[in-house]
Amino acid sequence: MTDTTSGVTSAMDLNQAWADLKPAERENDPAHLKTEILAKLAYAVGKDPVVANSSDWLTATILVVRDHIVDRWMASTRENYRAEKKRVYYLSLEFLIGRLFRDAMNNLELTSGITQALSELDVDIDFIRELEPDAALGNGGLGRLAACFMESMATVGVPAYGYGIRYDNGLFRQAIEDGAQVEYPENWLAFGDPWEFPRREAAYTIGFGGSVEVTKDWDGATTSSWKPQETVMATAYDTPVVGWRGEKVNTLRLWRARPTSPIKLDLFNSGDHMGALSESNRAKSISRVLYPADSSEAGQELRLRQEFFFTSASLQDILRRHLQQYDTLDNLADKVAVQMNDTHPALAVAELMRLLVDQHNLKWDEAWTKTQAVLSYTNHTLLPEALETWPVNLVERMLPRHMQIIYTINARLLTDVKTAGHSEEILEKVSLIDEHGGRRVRMGNLSFVGAHKVNGVAGLHSDLMKVTVFKELHQVFPDRITNKTNGVTPRRWLMQANPGLTQLLRDTIGDGFMDNTEKLRDLEPFAQNPAFRAKFAAVKLENKTRLAHLIHERTGVKVDPTAMFDIQVKRMHEYKRQHLNILETIALYNAIRANPHKNWAPRVKVFAGKAAASYWQAKSIIRLINDVGNVVNNDSAVRDLLKVVFIPNYNVSAAEVIMPAADLSEQISTAGLEASGTGNMKFGLSGALTIGTLDGANVEMLEHVGADNIKIFGMTAQEVEALRIKGYNPRATIEGIPALKEVLDGIASGIFSPSDKNRYAGLVDSLWNSDHFLVAADFEAYTAAQREMDALWHDQDAWMTKAVLNTARMGWFSSDRTIREYAQEIWNVPTV
Ligand SMILES: *Cc1c(COP(=O)(O)O)cnc(C)c1O
Repeated sequence: MTDTTSGVTSAMDLNQAWADLKPAERENDPAHLKTEILAKLAYAVGKDPVVANSSDWLTATILVVRDHIVDRWMASTRENYRAEKKRVYYLSLEFLIGRLFRDAMNNLELTSGITQALSELDVDIDFIRELEPDAALGNGGLGRLAACFMESMATVGVPAYGYGIRYDNGLFRQAIEDGAQVEYPENWLAFGDPWEFPRREAAYTIGFGGSVEVTKDWDGATTSSWKPQETVMATAYDTPVVGWRGEKVNTLRLWRARPTSPIKLDLFNSGDHMGALSESNRAKSISRVLYPADSSEAGQELRLRQEFFFTSASLQDILRRHLQQYDTLDNLADKVAVQMNDTHPALAVAELMRLLVDQHNLKWDEAWTKTQAVLSYTNHTLLPEALETWPVNLVERMLPRHMQIIYTINARLLTDVKTAGHSEEILEKVSLIDEHGGRRVRMGNLSFVGAHKVNGVAGLHSDLMKVTVFKELHQVFPDRITNKTNGVTPRRWLMQANPGLTQLLRDTIGDGFMDNTEKLRDLEPFAQNPAFRAKFAAVKLENKTRLAHLIHERTGVKVDPTAMFDIQVKRMHEYKRQHLNILETIALYNAIRANPHKNWAPRVKVFAGKAAASYWQAKSIIRLINDVGNVVNNDSAVRDLLKVVFIPNYNVSAAEVIMPAADLSEQISTAGLEASGTGNMKFGLSGALTIGTLDGANVEMLEHVGADNIKIFGMTAQEVEALRIKGYNPRATIEGIPALKEVLDGIASGIFSPSDKNRYAGLVDSLWNSDHFLVAADFEAYTAAQREMDALWHDQDAWMTKAVLNTARMGWFSSDRTIREYAQEIWNVPTV
C-alpha cells in the first residue's frame, strides 16, 4: 500500500511542475503515469499492488496506454466526420497483429515514462511485455501486410477501418515433438483482450440459404428480394490503431458471429438439449477458428460462410455509416474506398450490388458504376492452386441471390467483351464461371471485374499477372492492373524490434529517419567509417546474443553468437524452398566432414515456420531439418563450424527477435512464385545481407541496395518458364551433381532417421521424379553463392560495409510509402 499512498500524495506536489510541461512531455511524465497505473490496477483490475501479479500489472498498464489512445481516437474520428473525409475500408480475412503493448507505447512516445513508472513500482517492463498474447489472426505475409498497413494508414493520416473476423482461435501454436510439427490450439482470448471495445450498437443480420422472391412493380420493373433460410448476427469489436507520434488513430473492427436466437427453449424444455443448441453452435462456428492454410485454398463450406459473413457485415456497416452522415448514396464513391485483400472478400462485388439494387433501389447500371468505383482488389499469388474458386451449386445453395447477380454481371461482361471484338477463347478465360469439369465461380475474375484497380504486390509479380493469371482480363481492361510494392512498418520492424540499432542511428544521423525512412540514406557515408562499423557490429552481436538465448531456451541447443547467423523464417512451403536450404546444409556438412581443416565460415543455420496441418510435404521438410540438426549438432567432427536449429512456433513476436539478429537472410523461392515477400524487407532494414533469387520484391531490393550488397543467384522467372516449356529432367539434373546425389542418397538411406529409414522416401522421390520447384536446377548456383558468402564473412570489414548499406538503402520499403501510393493511385485520398 505504501506505493499507492506515496503515488497519490506526491501527485499533489507535482501539480505545478506538471502545469509547466508541454503536452507530449506531460503525457510521458512518470509520476503521473504511475498514478494512472495504480488507479487502473485498483479500479479496473480490482487488485491491491501488494497482491497484484505480473499479468495484473500488464493489464493495468495496457489500460493506461489505451486511455491515452482513446482521446486521440475520438478526436480523429470527430475530425474525419467534420471534414467529410473519404474513408478507406481494408477488408481482410487475416490480420497478423502480434503484440500491441510496445507498439502503442512507442507510437505515443510513452515508452520512457512508462518504463520508469513501472520500475518505480518494482515492475520489470520487459518481463510483463512478454505476457501479452500474440494475436495471430492470420497465417503469414498476407495477414502481416494488413497489420502493417493499418499502422501506416494511421501514420500517414488516411482515415481507415480494417474489417476482419475476431477468431476465437487464431493460428495454431506449433510444438516440435520428436522432430515433427504438432499443432495445438492458440487461445489468445482466454483472459479477454484489454485492447478491444465490444460495440453493442453495431450488429448486423447475415443471411444464408433460402430463396429469392421477385415482385413486379407498377411500371413492370422487377424487384428481387432474398429470403434467407438461416440468419446469424455479426457483432463488432473495435481495436484502436495508433499511428506514429500518436497523431491519428484508426479502427480495426473485427466481427464475431452470434446466433440470432441463442437457444431454442421449446426444444430445451422438451429435453433435446443438444438440438436446442445446434443452431447456436452452427452460428458461432463461423468466427471460431482461422483457416490455417497458407497459399492454398481449403475449399470448405465453412470458409465460404466466413468470407460472406465478414464481407456482408462490413458492407452493411459502411453503408449505414455513409447514409447516417450524408443521407444519400449519390456521393458513395467520393467518400468510400474498399480494398479487397486477396479474393477472400470477393463476394463484396455481388453483395454491394445486392445492397444497392435490392435494398436501396438503385438501377443496375448506376449500382455497377458505384460498385466498381468503390472497390479495388489486391492479388497475392500466382500459384494456380491458391486461386479461389467455389462450386456454382454451393454458391447457389448458400447465396442464391448472389449467384443470380454473378450471372448477370457475367452476361453483361461477356456481351461487352464480344462486342469489343474479342475471340471465343478470350471470352472463355474472362468468364466468371469456369465451365471445365464441374462449374465453379472464379473469385479472382469476379474481383478483377468488380474493381476499378487491381494491384500486384511487387513489380515482377504485377508484370507476371499480366501474362499469366489475368492475361486475358488484362487484354480486355489494359488500364486496370497496377503495381504497389509491399512494405513493412519501420516502427515495429526497426524501432521496436531493434532498439539498439535505432539508438545508434539517432546518435549518428539524427531523428529524421524516424519520420521518413528514406532519410536512412544519410547513413551511407558511415559505411566506410571503421568506428561506426564497429558500433554497428556491436549492436548486431548484441541482437545475436539475444537470439542465441531464445534458441537455447526453445531448443536446448547452444549456438555461438559470433558465428554467421544464416536465417530462413517464413511459412513452410515447397515454393519457398526450405528444402533447397537444408539439402545444401547437408552438402556443407558432408564437405566439412571430408575436409575439416579448411577455412570454413562458422555458421548457425536457423529455420522457423509453420506448415499447414494437412500439408505433409512441408511437414516432412520440418522433420528433416530437425533430424539433420540432431545429427549435425551432436557431431564433434564439425566442432562449432555448423549448427542447425529449428525454432518452434514462429510468430510476430519471434520474428521481432529473429530479424534483427540475422547476418544472412534466405529468400530463395523458385523465381516467379513469391509474390513479394516482406520478411526480406524486415531483415534488410536490420542490416542482414540477402541471398536470394530474382523473385518478388528481391528484384526491387537489388535495385535499391545495389548488386554489390545482395547475393542474387539462380534461374530467373523467364528461365524457369523456358525450362518448363523445354521440359525439365530432374533425374538427369541430380545425376549431374554428385554432391546433391550424395545428399539425397544419404537421406534415403536413413542417415538422419536411423529408426525409420523410409521417413523421407516421399520427399526424396518427389525430387527425383518431378522436382516441381526446381530445387536441383538451382542447387549448384545456390552452393556457389553460399561459398561466396563464406569468403565474404572472412572479410568482416567488407561484410559490415555491405550490411550498413543495406540498412541505409532499405528506407523505400516502408509501408508508409506503399500506403501513399495506394492513397494516390487507387483510393484517391490525400495523405499528410
Ligand atoms: C513478415 C512475416 C511473414 C512473411 O514472411 P515472408 O518471408 O515474406 O514469407 C510471415 N510470418 C510472420 C510472423 C512475419 O512476421
